[in-house]
Amino acid sequence: MRYLITGTAGFIGFHLARRLLADGHDVTGFDGMTRYYDVRLKQARNAVLARSDRFRMVEGMLEDRSALYQAAEVAEPEVIIHLAAQAGVRYSIEAPGTYVESNLTGSWNVLELARALQPQHLLMASTSSIYGANPTVPFSESHRADEPLSLYAATKKGMEAMAHSYAHLFGVPSTMFRFFTVYGPWGRPDMALFKFTDAILNDRPIDVYGHGQMARDFTYVDDLIEAVVRLADIPPAEENRVIGEATIDALSHQAPFRVVNIGGGQPTPLMDFIRTVEHATGRSAKLNMMDMQAGDVPRTYADPTLLHALTGYTPDTPIETGVARFVEWYREWRAQAAA
Ligand code: NAD
Repeated sequence: MRYLITGTAGFIGFHLARRLLADGHDVTGFDGMTRYYDVRLKQARNAVLARSDRFRMVEGMLEDRSALYQAAEVAEPEVIIHLAAQAGVRYSIEAPGTYVESNLTGSWNVLELARALQPQHLLMASTSSIYGANPTVPFSESHRADEPLSLYAATKKGMEAMAHSYAHLFGVPSTMFRFFTVYGPWGRPDMALFKFTDAILNDRPIDVYGHGQMARDFTYVDDLIEAVVRLADIPPAEENRVIGEATIDALSHQAPFRVVNIGGGQPTPLMDFIRTVEHATGRSAKLNMMDMQAGDVPRTYADPTLLHALTGYTPDTPIETGVARFVEWYREWRAQAAA
């Protein structure tokens, strides 16, 4: 298959591209190499992907429709997976315009591209943040998710809504992933695991928001990629077709559109997470207890029922295993950077 993936210099896009290349597919990556975090990490990911002669990279910003269309010409994609975005809850308070441009205008450009190309399947990355402070757990896709606490979540909610209208109007089978806190090797420097590991190994205190009273449903990156790869093979329209003719008629007013949580349904309290990082690093953390940050949600907790029903798969890597793999990678990365 031929894939166009946006955000391949990013954490998740890199892992996804690497997996699809290993499975024998052709991958064209599109990424703006933004300066949100250390661009050397993005360059290093690109260098790994460039080892495959089935990988091509087009550098450009989503907001520049001509650059995106140029990538599509190179890719001739059967499947489009849209991961590029301005991520991060806290930065959306500092730099709101970046979120509107990347996540709304940029995603709209991807939708226009899909409208023109009519790929077999369009998949887009949304987030568990859109469930907000919903007290009913676990979060099922059928839960109300219309009270986002951050502009990051709001732009992802807007992206989902735009994608639904495009699926309805133009018929491109579309899947929205709601990712739950993804972690693992090559992870993002702005996320908790990287920051905690970095601080603990450098004898600096770590900022513990919400006085440690938060919980996150952490998803190990290889598990997430397994789920994404399986879902990419089952566009929503196909799923309706296998149910039978009667169902097609009954659903004919519905868009070929679906939203799927990608998380294991096993939230880890923040203080347990810190103990796991201490164990993996072999060092004690110094804690700097802080109030909850504006925009943060108190907990995330995936209901993985739909993911399992569709794919037969539920993320299940134990947090201890995943964190240990991250710390091992982190040490190598730092050693290389210092060399
Ligand atoms: P990342 O920041 O590592 O990767 C995003 C990539 O997109 C970067 O390489 C960046 O250069 C690129 N990019 C950003 N804005 C762009 C633009 N306007 N034009 C072109 N390229 C642009 O983030 P990630 O963790 O790999 O996240 C991938 C996707 O998953 C994002 O959509 C994010 O919102 C979503 N997500 C991630 C998590 C997580 O825990 N990592 C959780 C929920 C949702």
